[in-house]
Formats: sequence, C-alpha cells, structure tokens
Amino acid sequence: MDKIITAQTLERAKILDISKRTIAVIGYGNQGRSQALNLRDSGLKVIIGNLKDNYSQKAEEDGFEVFDIGTAVSKSQIIFVLIPDEIQKYVFKSDITPHLKKGDAVVFASGYNYFYGLVEIPKEVTVLMIAPRMIGYGVREAYLKGDGFPVLISVGNDPKKEGEKLIISLSLALGVFNKNGCAIRSSFKEETLIDLLSEHTWAGAILFLFRAYYDVAVSLGASPEAVILELYGSGELAEIALGMRDMGLFEQLKTHSNTSQYGQLSIGPKFISDDLKNKMYTEAFRILDGTFAKEWMEEEETGQIVLSRLREIAKDHPMEKEEKKLYRILGRL
Ligand code: NDP
Repeated sequence: MDKIITAQTLERAKILDISKRTIAVIGYGNQGRSQALNLRDSGLKVIIGNLKDNYSQKAEEDGFEVFDIGTAVSKSQIIFVLIPDEIQKYVFKSDITPHLKKGDAVVFASGYNYFYGLVEIPKEVTVLMIAPRMIGYGVREAYLKGDGFPVLISVGNDPKKEGEKLIISLSLALGVFNKNGCAIRSSFKEETLIDLLSEHTWAGAILFLFRAYYDVAVSLGASPEAVILELYGSGELAEIALGMRDMGLFEQLKTHSNTSQYGQLSIGPKFISDDLKNKMYTEAFRILDGTFAKEWMEEEETGQIVLSRLREIAKDHPMEKEEKKLYRILGRL
C-alpha cells in the first residue's frame, strides 16, 4: 500500500457508493462547518448534531437539519466527531456511545481520544481517523478553490472490513484529493505524538523566544512598535511559512538577502544545545505514556484553573500593552 495517496495514485476500485448513507457531523465549529459543507457539496447526505445555540443557528442558516447529538447519531450511519478533544470523553458517554448501532462508522479528526482509550466504542462499530493538517477555514477555502489539502488517515476498529474503502471515499468527498492534496497513512498514535509534540516544543517555545527577543531589543533602545512589527506584526513571518511550504525549509532562504542567510545559518545553530533534544524526548515520552493527557484531564475536571493562570502570566508583560496600542492604531482591534 502506498504511504501517500494522491489524485494520481488513488485506486478508483476503492471508492464506495456512500450516497445512501446519512452522515452526522457532531459539532459545527472550525472543522465541523467546513467538513459538513464539503461533504454536502460532494453530494452526500449530511445532518448536524449540536446543542441549540449559536453554532446550531449557523448550521440552520447554512441549510442543514440540526438535531440534538443523540438523535443525530441515531439517524446516521457515519458519525464525524468534530467537537474539542478535551470534551469528547464526556459527550461520547452521554450522547454518542448509547446511540451507536452495529455497522456504524465513527470518524475522528485527531488521534487523541482513541489512542488514549478515553471513549467507549462498541466492537461492531468501524473507527476511522481523517486528521486534516489544515485549519477548518482552510479546509473549506481549499475545496471552494478546487484545491486539496493534506490529511493523516488511519483505520482503527474494522469489523466490516470496509475501513480502507470508507476512509478513501470520505477523504475524496471532503476534497482531500483535489489539486495538490494528499492522504498520508498514519496511526492514531503517530497523529497524537506529532500533534502534541509540536505544541509542546517549537510552537510554545517560539512565543517565549519572541518575548525574550523583545526584552533584549527594547532594553537596547529599540521601539516596541518596530520590534513587534519585526517579529510577527508585519506578516513577514506568514510569508516565510508559506515559503517553507512551497519551496522547502532551507530552500526558502533564497528569498532572503545574503546577509540574512549568512546570519541565520552561522548563528542560528548556536541556540540549539545538546540539552534541547533531551528535553524534546522527555516531552515525547510524557505524551506517549499518557502523562500529559492525564495532567490535562485533571486540569479539565478542576475547571482549567492552571490554564487561566498561565494565560494571565503570559499576558503580564509590557509587550502586551504595546501590542494592543499598535494594533489599535493599525485598525486591527
Ligand atoms: P471547535 O472548538 O471549533 O468545536 C466547536 C464545536 O464543538 C461547536 O459546535 C460546539 O457547540 C461543540 N461543543 C463545544 N463544547 C461542547 C460540549 N461540551 N458538548 C457538545 N458540543 C460541544 O473544534 P475544532 O473544529 O477546533 O476541533 C474539532 C476536532 O478537529 C478536534 O478533534 C480537533 O483536534 C480536530 N482538528 C482541529 C483542527 C483545527 O484547525 N481547529 C485541525 C485539525 C484537526 P456548542 O458550543 O454549541 O456546544
């Protein structure tokens, strides 16, 4: 089996006719709305499961039938679980598991809950993962432009032995295999590891690295406005990220001046100490053995007190006020 499936390598024989099955999209937030619209525009029958609130109103405005979650699960054969990871455990227990029927399929957009065994799913139910490497808005935008997007896919429990065909058919309907898109065969474990490891290493570190840069540059007389624009406020960082996507991590350096390239390549590595990879391994093992998930679940259960405090601490810095001032002048707030 190919590791990477694209429009060119897609085996047409693997496409199932799922037009007679009803798909329930549970949650109408970032991923829920985009995936529901894409599936419907591909000709599939989609209903929404959500509480009666702003999200359900939006779904109704978009022309969907909205039911409470239990009813939506009962009325469908394929259930896309597109609510936040940290609450899936509770929603499964109260509203999803009791309504699952023999032959149903549950589709996750991340590996987290299935990998950690946080949700109870009957043995007669197929379990799939289609995890977009793309924010919800991008999933819809790509579809509308005729573009594809990358996803990690995996078949979990597979009682009907149709998991492979179903995952390909659903990915196709989501628009994954449109121009430049692809599905990468993965696992619930791999998706959980690489997703959380990003968040626990470079994604978090870069925020505090920027803060340290701000402290140093401002202490040397640079203006807060100039520093914030230099770091992220100008949008140059977003352009660099697009360059990495389109040209490659180091190839994109060609779009920078020689002075910049020399500085980045000669001085950048000095910040990477031997200790850094050891710290990364420590965090990776905390993910794999479930320590982080347990800590986060306890935090969830006690009302996210630590998270609120961490948000306060992160914002308690002069840079925060300067950023607000600048963004107000620029009309961003
Ligand atoms: P959102 O935060 O956008 O989900 C919001 C939806 O969840 C709303 O419909 C909301 O309805 C519902 N919801 C929230 N709390 C509850 C609750 N207690 N009970 C029932 N419904 C609830 O989620 P995302 O789209 O960000 O994430 C969904 C999945 O997609 C996750 O598994 C995530 O890991 C994955 N994913 C997300 C990506 C992203 O870019 N955001 C990227 C790739 C994967 P209401 O408030 O009305 O109850």
